[in-house]
Amino acid sequence: MNKKIARRFALIVACSLAALCCSPRSGGGNKPTVIMIGLDGASWELIDPLIAKGRLPLFKKLKEQSAWGVLRTSTPAKSPIIWTSIATGKTEAKHGIDDFRSKKPNAQGKYSVYTALDIRQPLLWDMLDANGRRTVLVNWYLSFPPQPLNGIHVSDYFRMRALQPRDSKKGATDNTVFPAQRASDFEGLIEQDYAKVLRQSGLPDFPLRYDGMGGGRDHEHHGILKKYREFVLQETLVQKVAARLFRTEKFDLFAVYFKLPDIVQHFAFDCFVDESFKKELLSAFAEPRALPGRLAEAYDRVADVLCPVYQNIETVLSGYLDSEKAAGAYVMIVSDHGFHFFVRDRVVHYNHVNGMEKAPNGICLVRGPGVKPGRFSLASIYDVAPTALYLLGLALDRDMDGRPWFKVFSFRKPLRFTHYKRKPPRFRRKNRKLDEESLRELKALGYIN
Ligand SMILES: [Zn+2]
Repeated sequence: MNKKIARRFALIVACSLAALCCSPRSGGGNKPTVIMIGLDGASWELIDPLIAKGRLPLFKKLKEQSAWGVLRTSTPAKSPIIWTSIATGKTEAKHGIDDFRSKKPNAQGKYSVYTALDIRQPLLWDMLDANGRRTVLVNWYLSFPPQPLNGIHVSDYFRMRALQPRDSKKGATDNTVFPAQRASDFEGLIEQDYAKVLRQSGLPDFPLRYDGMGGGRDHEHHGILKKYREFVLQETLVQKVAARLFRTEKFDLFAVYFKLPDIVQHFAFDCFVDESFKKELLSAFAEPRALPGRLAEAYDRVADVLCPVYQNIETVLSGYLDSEKAAGAYVMIVSDHGFHFFVRDRVVHYNHVNGMEKAPNGICLVRGPGVKPGRFSLASIYDVAPTALYLLGLALDRDMDGRPWFKVFSFRKPLRFTHYKRKPPRFRRKNRKLDEESLRELKALGYIN
């Protein structure tokens, strides 16, 4: 072999090895895999000050290794609308989820809470299913009742059902999981001991802290703080179920949704930022030059309250990212919206649903083979599903409103389109008890009256 040929041969071997190293795999195959983490209400306005203070080392590392940016959202920033747009790549006019509950009364004259049965368009996992790919889906917003799919689907009603007082009926969580027989796998993960969960998770006892502030404060009279215990038990159950499935299952897409960053933001400013600062912030709204500095300080104060929640998320994320399965996979982290400050009736509010202004945007981050790290712009909630399909090498739905984030990848794959259909639901079992529970949750968060 002369020198030139030897060099070329060495180059081919090196390229093949590089391709092998960079090729994303899960469970032995060499097809790309996507790990998608949904964080309700997560925003850079809170994450960045915590990174700057050295309190979120994993988010810092992730930002350095990933393409990241703001995820433009739709107005009003209502979670069911946005999470369904994220999962379909389509606007609410197409997917049909336009609020928390139907605007038309049902036969009993009631406005029922939307469920997955009301979604008119195929979801990302339906598209994987149509291509024979496997999804592990945990707690996605509006995913009850779960429908048959290639993989495992733990719906968002599972966490509520699993923690309700046990009745004599066996298999109470069956209709919240597909395949139903897999529900029993998670029985051993249910933990009702709040103190133990707080110890293990590092999450604060916000109701106790609130009562301890004196002045007649009682969390029992505060809609969300009153339910905080339940939210924490549910969130940690979701974390455990997701961690187990991540470890034990093969998948092409692993998607999990966490609610706590949104929940805690709904009371962080109201309950844990002092009144004198709120007054200063209110006056700053009348002084355009003072406002940006004051707003930065306000986000900083809310970030301090949220810090243990994000640190808890870091622990969860490291469980995925340290695994061999993440080594060559694409990791996508997205949120549906952020929160912003606004004045109504001479009071400063911190929320995401206002209706008057443009909704505060969420976050997006993608890491994996061929991703160019750094900030990128103009990403939208409609791009998330097309980007995941593109990375998985699958055809996009013709009718999607978003496009893959081409500019963040060092490669360009051919783009294919097809027409996916949402299969007629096999399971229609309505669960009135869970619908009521879901209503109570929405009322506690102040989304509906
Ligand atoms: Zn939300």
